[in-house]
Amino acid sequence: MDKRTELTQEQVNAYIAGDGAHCPFCGSDQIEGSSFDTDAGCVRQDIDCKACDATWTDSYHLAAVIDEAGNVWDDTRGK
Ligand SMILES: [Zn+2]
Repeated sequence: MDKRTELTQEQVNAYIAGDGAHCPFCGSDQIEGSSFDTDAGCVRQDIDCKACDATWTDSYHLAAVIDEAGNVWDDTRGK
């Protein structure tokens, strides 16, 4: 079986709607993330699926700041 490497928009939408808990290719929850790779305003994490051997990278963007008092400040630009 050829290894699938490309996702579709539908797979990505379902994956993100499920908070990245299931493999976007096969739907398994046997997925494992490696260490986080941080960059300015961005964090990336390589993920492997133990069920179908697919690999992909989750990309996180800075969306909120929490101050020392515990207040969560969301990015409200464009809202
Ligand atoms: Zn899978």
